[in-house]
Amino acid sequence: MLRKNRLFTPGPTPLLPAAQNAMAAYSAHHRTAEFRALFSRVLADLKEFIGTKNDVIVLTASGTGLMEASISNLTSPGDRVLVLTAGKFGERWTSLAKAFGCAIETVAAPYGNTIPLDEVRTKLTPDVRCVYVQATESSTGARHDVEAMSKLVRALPDTLLVVDAITGLGTTRFDADGWGIDLIIGGSQKALMIPPGLAYGAVSERAWQRMEKTKSPRYYFDLRKERKAAEKSETAYTPATSLFAGLAAALDYIRQLGEGNLSAGRDELIANAELCAAMTRAGVEALGYKLFAPKSPAAALTAIAAPAGIDSSTIVKRFREQFGAVVANGQAEMKGQLFRIAHLGYYDYLDTVGVLAALEHVTAEVTGRSVDFGSAVRAAQEVYAKGH
Ligand SMILES: *Cc1c(COP(=O)(O)O)cnc(C)c1O
Repeated sequence: MLRKNRLFTPGPTPLLPAAQNAMAAYSAHHRTAEFRALFSRVLADLKEFIGTKNDVIVLTASGTGLMEASISNLTSPGDRVLVLTAGKFGERWTSLAKAFGCAIETVAAPYGNTIPLDEVRTKLTPDVRCVYVQATESSTGARHDVEAMSKLVRALPDTLLVVDAITGLGTTRFDADGWGIDLIIGGSQKALMIPPGLAYGAVSERAWQRMEKTKSPRYYFDLRKERKAAEKSETAYTPATSLFAGLAAALDYIRQLGEGNLSAGRDELIANAELCAAMTRAGVEALGYKLFAPKSPAAALTAIAAPAGIDSSTIVKRFREQFGAVVANGQAEMKGQLFRIAHLGYYDYLDTVGVLAALEHVTAEVTGRSVDFGSAVRAAQEVYAKGH
């Protein structure tokens, strides 16, 4: 049979055809009226997508670039920071904070769990300069309670809250301004349906003021330079121009999903991810699999524990070889223990039913047990019938 190559990975995600066409056609120089018009349109649309009145900045970098900027711009060496971590991306916060000489306190939860709020309450003292957390931990498929954490942080006057929402934006509801998030971070290759290469975020007034006093070294990722350049509808350095063209097309598509209203389209995208995730959870559980983060599963992706005695690498390999489907293995020490199926961005009903149907065959092949074909699909169908 034919095998179409399909990504089911939590970044990069499948590309929106309209965005691909826009990228292929774009050739404007970045110091022109044409690019300035595109750039200011993208900034305005991103504000609506994020749901913020704060300044939005876009860096030509992968998501980690803006994570790094959130350390280098908002801290000085020796500053106390609190890292809330329950996975590989949480650990990235610790590594970044270490690289810039912060004094790091952590609240850590085992992989697959969410951050224990009681412990956050204990460790969140007024001398903590910044709190760093993920909205959705893509390495484990868990969603953290950002709203509850914001309440704790906002009770302190001088503590900033930075949220890695790189797989959270477009899959999870946020009220960034209402909750008082000081920097919320997204990445282009996730729910926005375009290739890797842009990191975006919304910066609060509190965070801009902090940047005037902090002393960590920064150059390319100096957010103040980007803010100043954006006043003239420009970027500080040469941007990935074609990705901006793709992003504008993707934001147009999201606006169409909302019948002309971008924030309604964003909510539609979130509802889509939630339904695809709920269908997937029902499907894999019907096949006897256990969810890796059952207590608080994200809509961005579903992480599924490998059956006892089976390395998830064989499942990942089967998917690719037999069906052309790229699902993600566990990261680092979780490799072999789980596999991950994404729902963020350009996924639909047929993708979801298809990947579950393929999983029925993959399961039969790798476990050698007989599988009741249609059982995963049936469970997903029932969720769809109730939920669409
Ligand atoms: C993808 C991702 C990142 C960023 O990774 P990059 O490879 O730098 O784009 C950070 N955090 C989370 C939760 C992610 O899913």
